[in-house]
Amino acid sequence: MAKKPGFQVVLYYVTPPSAEQLQGIWNFVLGKYVNEDRKAEDIDFSVEEDESLGGGFILKCGNEVYNWSTRGRLGQFNEKLQQIRRNVGADEDVISILRTTTEEFRLAARFRRSGYVVSAGDGIARVKGLERAEYGEILIFASGVKGMVQDIRRDDCGVILFGRDTEIRVWDEVARTGLRAGVPVGDALLGRVLNALGEPIDGDGEFEAEGYRPIESPAPSITARQPVDTPLETGILSIDSMFPIGRGQRELIIGDRQTGKTSIAIDTIINQKGKGVKCVYVAIGQKASTIAQLVNTLEKNGAMDYTVVISSTASDPAPLQFIAPYSGTAIAEFFMNKGEDVLIVYDDLSKHAVAYRALSLLLERSPGREAYPGDVFYLHSRLLERSARLSEEKGGGSITALPIIETQAGDVSAYIPTNVISITDGQIYLESDLFFLGFRPAVNVGLSVSRVGGAAQTKAMKKAAGSVRIDLAQYREMEVFTQFSSDLDDATKNQLRHGRLLMEMLKQPIGHPRSMVDQVMMLTAVNSGVIDSLPLEMVREFMDGYLKKVHEEEQTIVHDIELLGTLNDDEKYFLVQKAQTMLQEFMSIKE
Ligand code: ATP
Ligand code: MG
Repeated sequence: MAKKPGFQVVLYYVTPPSAEQLQGIWNFVLGKYVNEDRKAEDIDFSVEEDESLGGGFILKCGNEVYNWSTRGRLGQFNEKLQQIRRNVGADEDVISILRTTTEEFRLAARFRRSGYVVSAGDGIARVKGLERAEYGEILIFASGVKGMVQDIRRDDCGVILFGRDTEIRVWDEVARTGLRAGVPVGDALLGRVLNALGEPIDGDGEFEAEGYRPIESPAPSITARQPVDTPLETGILSIDSMFPIGRGQRELIIGDRQTGKTSIAIDTIINQKGKGVKCVYVAIGQKASTIAQLVNTLEKNGAMDYTVVISSTASDPAPLQFIAPYSGTAIAEFFMNKGEDVLIVYDDLSKHAVAYRALSLLLERSPGREAYPGDVFYLHSRLLERSARLSEEKGGGSITALPIIETQAGDVSAYIPTNVISITDGQIYLESDLFFLGFRPAVNVGLSVSRVGGAAQTKAMKKAAGSVRIDLAQYREMEVFTQFSSDLDDATKNQLRHGRLLMEMLKQPIGHPRSMVDQVMMLTAVNSGVIDSLPLEMVREFMDGYLKKVHEEEQTIVHDIELLGTLNDDEKYFLVQKAQTMLQEFMSIKE
């Protein structure tokens, strides 16, 4: 019978083992590998010197390796200690060296803890054998793919993957990094399109970051904040006049699909040109082509100079869609902490919640209402609470958030819409009926509200806007009541005519933001009622002429509104007079 090939056992060492150590290791091998098939004589035991170990031993038994060496950082640590011992008395500050070396050592020891993959698929991997892995920690898989710990159980943990799961195999080694997920930050990000991990995807090459910020960080405390008192102008008449937004506010844009939600956000970004507001647009679960188009629009309007776009498309893995808004907020916080004002748009949080639901279900968390996990409220509250207006001591910067939520058939009482409505400081509700009737932006006056922005409105705007909101609400109500009656009294007829004119004036095409001065002058003219007889189809033409004339002839009024934010009674009276005389001229030309 042919002799069985021997079982190779090699012991690598730096300092030769003592006889006692050798005996101990041999006993270990005998205990582990001698069985019915293999006798002690079948084992080829040899020793070999290997300097690179740094210290200790490595025992290789067939295909298995027992690593008792201090290779790597631990070895360096020993080396440094030796060095310090030699240098005592020299110029070196021994304590500080000791401190850095122990810190390095701790870091090294953390890196050394590794585990292995038990299963991988659907953007999730389960990993065993990790010691002390933390929630939210970044892990690196053997193939280089990164993941984040999202679920910690008794014997394994669930990891969401930021790369393709097909590159991960069972038994692959997984290493802890001891780091939280973070993104690069810096002024160089402006004008760039990044993915959720902060890597450029616009093909314009790398950028030089000024730092690295964790994507999750606690919201500023109450004492670190101050009240909202500066307007953030959207340039959209119906919003600035009735639902003003202040810097540091969170105003929800909510409505069915294709009702102009994104358009409002983009117009607002475009309107920040020259106002010193940095913008961050976070696209979640949208088509790549839609995002490309949007970036194009921003570029054309010169808005990319002060904007960062974070894009996680519908084809990105759910984990990337899940972290995208947090990454965007981290970038916004960088600017806010420098004392700047930032506008951030989350487009949209419904898709964000859906991505999180997919992850949670795959991580086998128990589903709750609408199959969302129990912590879906916290998902959005911890995100939106990070928008703030910082106190002067903290630099006075701000983050204004415009989260977007898509409703199904106008149902605002679904789970995610009610959650986000309750977190934000107001909402702009867009209605598909109005949109299809041609009233765009399709803001529903009755269901929209801004809870803190009033404090940020200028005196001039407050005075000019007056009772627009109430007038419009009354008009909408009256319109329904009077639909079928033919003989109406004059007062009602006038009220209807006034309402119609208001509705017409609030129409605004995309990409045409109105300055605050123009808005104030338009509202003053319309609210006075002097132009109620103007035919609806002529409203736009008349307004343009009126604004042009006032800008040309009444520079003090323009100056007061623009720079002081005021409009006194004389000026108001003057504007009304102007509108009235212009209407007469206008109508006589038309006839
Ligand atoms: P989705 O649900 O697909 O994200 P959305 O609610 O974000 O849609 P938008 O993409 O902003 O809606 O707009 C839908 C369409 O309506 C676009 O074609 C846009 O050009 C048009 N639109 C939006 N606002 C206006 C407006 N004020 N005037 C004219 N057209 C508009
Ligand atoms: Mg949209």
